[in-house]
Amino acid sequence: MIRRSFIKTGLAVAAATVGGSVFARRGADAAEGSFPVSHTATEWKKLLTPDQYAVLREEATERPFSSPLNHNKKAGLYSCAGCDTPVYSSAAKFDSGTGWPSFWEPVSATAVASHTDYKLIYPRTEVHCATCGGHLGHVFDDGPQPTGKRHCINGVALKFKPGATEAS
Ligand SMILES: [Zn+2]
Repeated sequence: MIRRSFIKTGLAVAAATVGGSVFARRGADAAEGSFPVSHTATEWKKLLTPDQYAVLREEATERPFSSPLNHNKKAGLYSCAGCDTPVYSSAAKFDSGTGWPSFWEPVSATAVASHTDYKLIYPRTEVHCATCGGHLGHVFDDGPQPTGKRHCINGVALKFKPGATEAS
């Protein structure tokens, strides 16, 4: 499990009402900022599997070629495993050969957000769910047209729903 080399102070965020539940704080390892869906680390641990928690809340990376979604070619939407919000579409999925589900763009401009992380020697662009802050993967500049971007996403952070390829 990969841990951040520094500890972020957990930010108390305004209580948000989502689906009838009230959430007050978010985990210290989540992406910066406040999000419409927010839980404490304890709450996330109950909601997620250990693997999902490690990736979404602690920015771990799953083993390459370990996700059944890597070679999924069905039409449909990929939602964030933390909050069920669609983040990627089969319409922008491609086989990057890297061992992780790869997309050249998110399902919408507002579905995901990113920041630069310095966990490795070189800076990388981290990408997370804009709704719950859950870490999804990284974005690289060696993707195919039309964007030239490669969103390299952990399959364990996604839930696939066959059917519509555009978020409603
Ligand atoms: Zn999410």
